[in-house]
Amino acid sequence: MLYQSTRGQAPKVTADAALKAGAPTDGGLYLPDALPELDLASLKATSGLADLGGVMLAPFFAGSPLEGQAPAICADAFNFPAPLVQPDPGDDGLQVLELFHGPTGAFKDFGARFLFRCFSALGQGSDTPITVLVATSGDTGGAVGCAAEGLPGTRAVILFPKGRISAFQEHQLCCWEPPVEALRVEGDFDTCQALVKAAFADKALSAEHALTSANSISIGRLLPQMVYWARASLDVFARTGKKPGLVIPTGNLGNALAALLARELGLPIGPVVLATNANATLADWHASGQYEARPSIATIANAMDVGAPSNFERLAGLAEARVEAVERVDDDAIRARMKQVFEQTGYVACPHTATALEAHARLSDGAKAERPWIAGATAHPAKFADVVEPVIGQAVALPPGLADVLDRKVRVRDIPGTAAALAAALETRVTA
Ligand SMILES: *Cc1c(COP(=O)(O)O)cnc(C)c1O
Repeated sequence: MLYQSTRGQAPKVTADAALKAGAPTDGGLYLPDALPELDLASLKATSGLADLGGVMLAPFFAGSPLEGQAPAICADAFNFPAPLVQPDPGDDGLQVLELFHGPTGAFKDFGARFLFRCFSALGQGSDTPITVLVATSGDTGGAVGCAAEGLPGTRAVILFPKGRISAFQEHQLCCWEPPVEALRVEGDFDTCQALVKAAFADKALSAEHALTSANSISIGRLLPQMVYWARASLDVFARTGKKPGLVIPTGNLGNALAALLARELGLPIGPVVLATNANATLADWHASGQYEARPSIATIANAMDVGAPSNFERLAGLAEARVEAVERVDDDAIRARMKQVFEQTGYVACPHTATALEAHARLSDGAKAERPWIAGATAHPAKFADVVEPVIGQAVALPPGLADVLDRKVRVRDIPGTAAALAAALETRVTA
């Protein structure tokens, strides 16, 4: 399989090159140049996430050094479940797909773990480990560090601004074993981002350390996210004979795009409804047909505070990728839905998940009666306890895996906010 740029001005490349480059040189995003023909019967014959992933993703590695490795990569990456749960015992028309049972409590664990295992497989075949350089203001770095821990052939270097993130976040960035290295930078988040950008632009440095990124536009994060939508829809279809509709909490459109790709591949997926917070870019685009990026606004579903969704260009590039509806849910409606669902069923939703539950509630009675629906639950509610607890009037405990992070030892190096300091830090590899 080859990957082509949405802008068509860069060469087509195999999976390994698309993963290492992150994005094509023409400023576009990589998409498969043609979707593979999947045999639905062989997908139906699988059980579990990893098994399905191995079969479903194999064609996406064809013709690259990763060919044949999809089953092993999926088995190692998808080592936690994505259960379908029914919040209301009296309503089997709505299931929640819980995507937060990974080690950092959010669905981004799927993408980060898969991508790093691809890098590890590629890095072990070369002299230089693949170094993933990330600047983070909080959450992403934790998922990246956790995903990279213990993997040969890779190195993860995480930059964060000194004194500007919470104590828990800092702990979650600095607590991972090699090949993860945390750098506490004198400066703010923009300083960290500028350092990373300068390092990538420095061709000699970039080549010496095989520098790459792990940001949300990597095709290596999109591919694994197709798998849980495929698994859930196959399971619901097998049980009900109907293609479920999906309601997806949406920010940069990664999760939603994965679902649309899975539907294009032939998985039994019905309508796809995007749930956003108060950021209006996608709702306005769907209503008017005009796409206009705007500055993001802050909401309580802050992982979706996006005014210019980075994957929009992929949506526009996939002629078949229809979105049936976009529902914009403001903070008051998020809180009201969280409270209503908790009081009626006892189910505790994070603010992002609550946008999807609210979008589902707004569907017509006819749409609800016609088919089962699946709402994505993207984060564990305890990660957003400051928002959730006052709404439901109860404490939400961290799941054991997340709480364990606090018992780990912290390792971090302090560096000044200069390109020379980052280059020097890259020269010395921390191995224990
Ligand atoms: C990243 C994130 C989202 C948004 O996902 P996109 O793929 O960017 O649309 C939703 N909820 C949570 C908890 C997230 O971390």
